[in-house]
Amino acid sequence: MPRPLQACIDLSALRDNLAVAKRAAPAARAFAVVKADAYGHGLMRCASALGAADGLALLEIDAAVRLREAGWRKPILLLEGVFDAAELALAAHDGFACVLHDPEQLAMLRTLPSSARLDVFVKLNTGMNRLGFRAHALGKVLARLGADAHVRSVTLMTHFACADDERGIGEQLQRFLDAARGRSLPYSTANSATILRFPEAHGDWIRPGIMLYGASPFAGEPALALGLRPVMTLTSRIIGVQELAAGDAVGYGATFVATTPMRVGVVACGYADGYPRHAPNATPVLLEGTRTGIVGRISMDMLCVDLTPVPSAGVGSAVTLWGEGLPADEVAAAAGTVSYELFCALAARVPIVER
Ligand SMILES: *Cc1c(COP(=O)(O)O)cnc(C)c1O
Repeated sequence: MPRPLQACIDLSALRDNLAVAKRAAPAARAFAVVKADAYGHGLMRCASALGAADGLALLEIDAAVRLREAGWRKPILLLEGVFDAAELALAAHDGFACVLHDPEQLAMLRTLPSSARLDVFVKLNTGMNRLGFRAHALGKVLARLGADAHVRSVTLMTHFACADDERGIGEQLQRFLDAARGRSLPYSTANSATILRFPEAHGDWIRPGIMLYGASPFAGEPALALGLRPVMTLTSRIIGVQELAAGDAVGYGATFVATTPMRVGVVACGYADGYPRHAPNATPVLLEGTRTGIVGRISMDMLCVDLTPVPSAGVGSAVTLWGEGLPADEVAAAAGTVSYELFCALAARVPIVER
């Protein structure tokens, strides 16, 4: 029998989650965000299930080229634009829409052959202070784009820093709308949190990411309550059992010490598979469908769980690390991170099956 760890990707859940995003923003078109190998779910596999999206957005141009080669004809948006002139030429050739966020990229347009045409998404920095032009620079940027025959269309965009928490998007949205006013350009501002919470900011193109993969963009608001279904379920089995006496410790650093006699199961999954090494004792795990918790430190290839809640459990018992029956958001919260990071960290060595 092979090592029992595997990730199951539920493509019907992916389709359903896209439908949730589209229903939330019926007037907008949707770029399904598939950066970082579709948040660790597999780019090509996910693209094949995202035919209902109006476009795909990512930042790796080699992956964008592969999407074209695989027959994706609809828009593809490069979320950080291009990094050099060669990429710009490639983007024009393959018809990738490009984010334009700094003067270097603007200057690069001059290097395009005269026949090349490009769709441009001008990124405004409205307060996140990561990528983008300040509002006061927008007039000049648009003037230069307007005078450039390479530019086929211009869309305005921004990204919100706090769409998922109680601070919301108010100030940033106001700045964005002030900058956009009177220019009659289409715009794109909404990530998953904004799609679900701020209909007033949907604009012309939404950019759902994490919600497509069935996780919640909001701490403390379960994905299921938002109508989202998990796409990735990571499962394994117990490969060894230890009977502990009171005082026995488990794993590196002996961070867990039994206070009574107990049974501990060793699961074939470790941080080299993408399980977060910082997951503390009691991080939730499903054992034969029943909740139990991590005991001891996560090792490279193994982790240990408390078998107490399932006395019949032993070698071969089924374990779910996250996914169906155990939201990745809960595991992430226990480990001090977010589901985005769990998904993206799924290691190449973990076999993937589709459903
Ligand atoms: C990743 C990304 C998104 C998607 O964000 P989610 O929170 O995953 O929905 C949207 N817009 C931009 C610019 C991004 O980089």
